[in-house]
Amino acid sequence: MARMDVLTYGFAFVSDQGGFGFSNVSLLTVDNQRILVDTGPPSRRAEVFQALQSHDLNPDDIDLVVLTHLHWDHCLNVDMFKNARVLLHSREIDYIKSPTAKDYGAAFYVADMLDKLKIEPVSEGDTVVPGISIMETPGHTSGHISLVADVDGETVLVAGDALPDTGTVKRGIPYNVFWDVDDATESVEKMLDASSVFYPGHDRPFRVDGEEISYIDGPGRVELTDSNEGGEAIRLGYRVLQHRPVNINLLQKP
Ligand SMILES: [Zn+2]
Repeated sequence: MARMDVLTYGFAFVSDQGGFGFSNVSLLTVDNQRILVDTGPPSRRAEVFQALQSHDLNPDDIDLVVLTHLHWDHCLNVDMFKNARVLLHSREIDYIKSPTAKDYGAAFYVADMLDKLKIEPVSEGDTVVPGISIMETPGHTSGHISLVADVDGETVLVAGDALPDTGTVKRGIPYNVFWDVDDATESVEKMLDASSVFYPGHDRPFRVDGEEISYIDGPGRVELTDSNEGGEAIRLGYRVLQHRPVNINLLQKP
């Protein structure tokens, strides 16, 4: 049985000036094996490092890194983990060498980075460690994979961008499909058949119960904290806040 810790939560922050690419970075622990799923974008490298430290870990303590796919916002911190073997699908390696023209998350030079890593290709059903296995979930990219993990006696799906948010469940398709729409739709169906608990690529973990979708944990509010009023570089700050308790005015109660 695995223990699951989210190191950095995924968000779908977008702007007309580009995307932030804040992907979910999850830590699965089985016995003394530490498995990281995705690594986040370089803009969040310090946060990943600090999150590890809050678990009394350093990047060198990570044994395995599973890359759901090779978009920059999921893979470009992989060099932090010098002792880790890196698991990904061989089709994804082929894909990144020649991504589709409109895949703005993919860059062919990522293939050069892979030459410097301890890569282990994986495919459908492969066991990562006992209790954690690979599920092929193509569509968003050609060789996208997800993880099926036994966490606290429950089957949990670490989905990546094959199922990036709760909206994917409602739509039946992720909001970005760079490879194949039919594959992407089938992958969503496959994941929903396999589990009811999801750790998506760019949203908080959630549970699906029939038509009901409920978030499990993670921050739920974003507050803008700054503007361009300083007369210097335009700068917009934001702060992610924990859930605020419901404010009930007891005086209004009978
Ligand atoms: Zn992606």
